[in-house]
Amino acid sequence: SQKRVYSCQIFEYYHNHKLVVFEDVNELYNLAQIRRDFVANASHELRTPLTVLSGYLEMMIDMPSEETQMWQKPLDQMFHQAKRMQSIIEDLLTLSSIESDVLLKAPEAVAVDDILQIMARDQLAIYGEDYEWHFEIAEHLGLKGYAEPLKSVFSNLISNAVRYTPKGGKIQVRWYRDQQGAHFEVQDTGIGILKEHIPRLTERFYRVDTARSRDTGGTGLGLAIVKHALEKQGSFLAIESQIGKGSIFSCVFPAERVLTLKD
Ligand code: ADP
Repeated sequence: SQKRVYSCQIFEYYHNHKLVVFEDVNELYNLAQIRRDFVANASHELRTPLTVLSGYLEMMIDMPSEETQMWQKPLDQMFHQAKRMQSIIEDLLTLSSIESDVLLKAPEAVAVDDILQIMARDQLAIYGEDYEWHFEIAEHLGLKGYAEPLKSVFSNLISNAVRYTPKGGKIQVRWYRDQQGAHFEVQDTGIGILKEHIPRLTERFYRVDTARSRDTGGTGLGLAIVKHALEKQGSFLAIESQIGKGSIFSCVFPAERVLTLKD
């Protein structure tokens, strides 16, 4: 038989009494599932035509002929926009895979320290000159969880720090443990975020400044991916920020998921 989905809320009633309210949210749950499937299918269907489009555009740009020469600028722009659409589609697919697949597989040992070391090396290779970087990555510190969603969390938070921090700023990345669990933090000295925007940042396509985000290559889905990926790891995103001073994006993974890795 099919399972139904209920939500459950517990309210404090008189002393020592509690009121438990169950609500049948099956309909809502099914609608959410239909929406998720639709977005995943639509993104998947758009992938191939876009690959063909950007492939031909790239070819015309790389091999200019007499006919295409006068179209060079529009061709460059078309190629740039096709690439942007591809990034959005890839992010939509990442989001739907995090929302659906991940729970079906068993969690595995993830060497977070190695993943972060590789990311640190890549960031230093690309932006080493542009920012003052500080990486504090505890060795042998890993998690029981899902590697791909975790990589999405780390890479989105680090690339946002780069994107919203003017060159010359400082970016700190920390990975450490204490009694509470394992902490991941990215701190920047960037533009900062006004308080009223903070609760909405993890909504899909929510941006403080749409033009700026687009110019810097953002899809508007980064923090939505981070939020959902963290939920699957028993964690959530905390954001502290001061306008003009910078931001700290952090999360704590519960102690029972933390692993000490061997060499
Ligand atoms: P985007 O692709 O637009 O960066 P995100 O979901 O990653 O999408 O982030 C949503 C919005 O949150 C961004 O458009 C930006 O306004 C704000 N934001 C994210 N990270 C930072 C940061 N480190 N500093 C300042 N603003 C940020």
